Amino acid sequence: PAAVVASGVTKVYGTGDAAVHALRGVDVAFARGAFTAIMGPSGSGKSTLMHCLAGLDTVTSGRVALGDVELTSLGDKRLTLLRRERVGFVFQAFNLLPTLTAEQNILLPLELAGRRPDRAWFDHVIDVVGLRDRLTHRPNELSGGQQQRVACARALVARPEVIFADEPTGNLDSRSGAEVLGFLRSSVREMGQTIVMVTHDPVAASHADRVVFLRDGLIVSELTGPTPDTVL
Ligand code: ADP
Ligand code: ADP
Repeated sequence: PAAVVASGVTKVYGTGDAAVHALRGVDVAFARGAFTAIMGPSGSGKSTLMHCLAGLDTVTSGRVALGDVELTSLGDKRLTLLRRERVGFVFQAFNLLPTLTAEQNILLPLELAGRRPDRAWFDHVIDVVGLRDRLTHRPNELSGGQQQRVACARALVARPEVIFADEPTGNLDSRSGAEVLGFLRSSVREMGQTIVMVTHDPVAASHADRVVFLRDGLIVSELTGPTPDTVL
């Protein structure tokens, strides 16, 4: 079964004359262990779709399932719990706590959830992300690319079923962006992680296995397999 499935998803903001139809019937499935990019012009509904898939926002109609759990049938409390247990997030702004070291930032979500870190898994994540010699550094002692890799490690350490990444390279220069994307790719290859990434950067999207294009709240086309930059 797919890791995430959206069926007939619509999202309307506001009512009456002010209503904005941000999603107009989206059907899409994200396979386990795949790295998918969602692209589209500004205002096409990318962030709205990601928020609906991740259970950060409710749909107006249609259904979203995360594995075997139908999100659209859950109340707020269970949704929050499910998100904590099954979903990881990486955002454009790295959202690290400035007073904590890299290691403390990475372990914080587990601590907040009252879970004990699995030390072997933590070590594995740190090696994949290449932060072994940066664990005691605070965010202001790290480059942008390193900070985003800390944010990726923080998302991965709880072993989420899916990582949602919203413009993860939006604040990075192209070299640091390539580093972060390389790391996301390795987490798919070496850990079987499922990743759904929103981006408007064709170079970022070219690292994905599949690219889905949104326009005016609908999926209008997609590319699978290696995607040369020249196609995007
Ligand atoms: P994208 O991420 O592709 O730029 P969004 O999902 O942010 O697109 O927005 C899709 C449409 O929904 C746009 O017309 C946007 O103005 C509108 N929209 C997004 N969020 C809200 C909101 N909270 N209230 C009203 N309209 C919104
Ligand atoms: P919780 O009640 O478990 O904290 P939240 O809805 O506050 O659940 O958010 C879940 C995760 O997603 C948190 O890591 C939060 O920081 C992040 N998050 C939620 N909404 C946004 C948003 N609009 N932009 C950035 N991060 C967000």
